[in-house]
Amino acid sequence: MLGKLPDVVVGSDGGITVAGSVVIDGHGPASQRVRVVTHIHSDHTVNLYESIRNSYRIVATQLTLSWLQVFGYSVVNSISLEAGDSIKFEDLRLRFLRSVHIPGTVQVLVETDDGTRVLYSSDFKKPGEGTPIEEADVLVIDAVYGRPNYVREFDDYIEHLLVDLVKQLLTVGGVRIYGYYGKVNEVMSILRQGGIDAPFVLAPKVYMMTKKAESLGIRVGDYVLAGSRESQEVIRSGWYVYLDHSSRATPGSRDASTLILSGWEFRSPIRRISGRTWHVAFSDHSDFRGLVKYVSSVRPRRLYVVKARSSGAEEFASYVAKNLGIQEIRVV
Ligand SMILES: [Zn+2]
Repeated sequence: MLGKLPDVVVGSDGGITVAGSVVIDGHGPASQRVRVVTHIHSDHTVNLYESIRNSYRIVATQLTLSWLQVFGYSVVNSISLEAGDSIKFEDLRLRFLRSVHIPGTVQVLVETDDGTRVLYSSDFKKPGEGTPIEEADVLVIDAVYGRPNYVREFDDYIEHLLVDLVKQLLTVGGVRIYGYYGKVNEVMSILRQGGIDAPFVLAPKVYMMTKKAESLGIRVGDYVLAGSRESQEVIRSGWYVYLDHSSRATPGSRDASTLILSGWEFRSPIRRISGRTWHVAFSDHSDFRGLVKYVSSVRPRRLYVVKARSSGAEEFASYVAKNLGIQEIRVV
């Protein structure tokens, strides 16, 4: 016989309270006063000050905890937990699972004493490859690309295209790359793995994040702080990769090319915007097909689609209801 499913309440800020005990990626009442942060993106750290002010213990990976400091959060009461590890809070066991998204990201699996499982996917890409998929009774998902036409045919090789483009552009000058925090850090690793050893010139926040990552053993090769004397020399040499947040993107110029990273490009992987400015369809989220693959592998009895962090939540829910035979779907 099927057991009773634990209570899951999704607040208007996207916070997911499981069994009234712990809350994930938003603020809400939680009897254990535990708040999980799956990663540092702002739609997952909503109302974090509220949780801190209410003396919630903050559970996150070490990297996420140290990046939270960079973003101005002073978390006094924290528990660091890495992917693959678990921790018990009374009758709930909380387990972190690996995820391919920005560095430090995890999925969260909550298991009750009677063995029922609630899984929150958080943000991910490469489901079933880098991002492992676990079965669960209840799945909470953010349908970031929830509409059937949100498909990128080139996701499997976009990293190679990006590396090749950067290599090619470096032969004629510097390259500036703009993207979300975390995504640019991920891109730095991809460029190094792709054999690019030009020094990185990093905007202050990216620089601080990189320092923190390095102190936890993540290697990034040569990098300098933008604006420093060293960075001026590096920039004069014309052989460097500059990285900053997409909100500060400036168009390419005679001395440097600009690449803007965006997941909202579905037609072509690389698109020239003007002379030396390109859009690169590099996303940290799986597309519509990846979401469907994830849900069909989890095989939940009940599915929650979180509106606050979805595009096309209703469409995704109706597609899943029709095609995957999941009995209970709630768009919340
Ligand atoms: Zn994210």
